[in-house]
Amino acid sequence: MLFRCIQCEQLVGEVRFGGRNRNHCPWCLWSQHVDEKKGDRASLCHGRMKPTGKFRKRTGEEVIVHQCEQCGAIRWNRVAADDDEQLVGALPIVIRHLEVQ
Ligand SMILES: [Zn+2]
Ligand SMILES: [Zn+2]
Repeated sequence: MLFRCIQCEQLVGEVRFGGRNRNHCPWCLWSQHVDEKKGDRASLCHGRMKPTGKFRKRTGEEVIVHQCEQCGAIRWNRVAADDDEQLVGALPIVIRHLEVQ
C-alpha cells in the first residue's frame, strides 16, 4: 500500500522492517483518521491526525499518540523502525491511561 502523506505530501510506502501496518508518515509522523477500530478503515472522518505525544507500553513497545484535528479522536500507533528519530524524540511523554482505547 502506497499513500501520499496528508501533511507533508511525501509518498509513503510499506514499512521495510520493524513493523507491520504503516499508519503514519515516517517523515513528519502525521496520520489520517481512517479507522474506527485499529486497522478496520471504517471511519468516515478522514481528518488529519497530529502526533501529540508518545509513551512506552508494558511490553516495551514505544507508541505515538495521534489526535484528530477534525473530530478530536485519539489513537495510538506503534513507532515504525524508519520513523524520523528526532521527531519521535521531541514528542512529549504522555500519561499511560491513553493506552486504553
Ligand atoms: Zn508526512
Ligand atoms: Zn477524526
